[in-house]
Amino acid sequence: MTTANQNAVARYKNSFLKEVEANVEDGHMVKMCMQCGVCAGSCPLGNAWEHSPQKLFMMIRAGKRDEVLKSDSMWMCTSCYNCISRCPRKLPITHIMHGLANYAYRLGIAPQGQPTQGVARMFWDNLAKTGRINELKFAIDLYFKDGLASGMQVVWNMKEDVLGLVKANRLNLLELFSAHECQDKIGIQKMLAKAREIEDRRKGFTQ
Ligand code: SF4
Ligand code: SF4
Repeated sequence: MTTANQNAVARYKNSFLKEVEANVEDGHMVKMCMQCGVCAGSCPLGNAWEHSPQKLFMMIRAGKRDEVLKSDSMWMCTSCYNCISRCPRKLPITHIMHGLANYAYRLGIAPQGQPTQGVARMFWDNLAKTGRINELKFAIDLYFKDGLASGMQVVWNMKEDVLGLVKANRLNLLELFSAHECQDKIGIQKMLAKAREIEDRRKGFTQ
């Protein structure tokens, strides 16, 4: 068990709902769920999940901390917002899904090797460096994540799409050497570091 997780367990003993309310984005809304099942039935990827949002909310209230935080279900959310637009109680379901995933990740108990987790990390690292996403670098990191050979295979398979994007000026290969970035990228990095520091203090990730 990681230290952050041990501290959280000690602080919120027997009250996982309170823990979620205090630490997860829009977690205070979980108690508003009336278990109608509309979100579970509306989620286009629902049948690929172990636990639907409806079930996760029920599990949170039932105190099933490990089962929720170690689940990979919330990592499957594609932010399509179907559930939010249909929930009769107006729960910000998408935000809670990402909030739960982020909280589990910060505690160090999120499932290892979950693919969307890797992509999210890659996207964030790319964006946080300069304040703007470098799409070319992101695509290369993504396609070559399993090694040179499989990356070359993907690029070869997509060569017509890549050429089409270059011709339409939607992809600039020079971005690899001199990416466009925000004017004050150091300021952005400092702002993000400060935000992290404040969040860590508030959530008890630092002592
Ligand atoms: S649609 Fe809303 S109220 Fe119904 S189960 Fe889902 S979160 Fe709960
Ligand atoms: S936003 Fe996420 S949880 Fe909601 S319907 Fe779409 S994939 Fe499912």
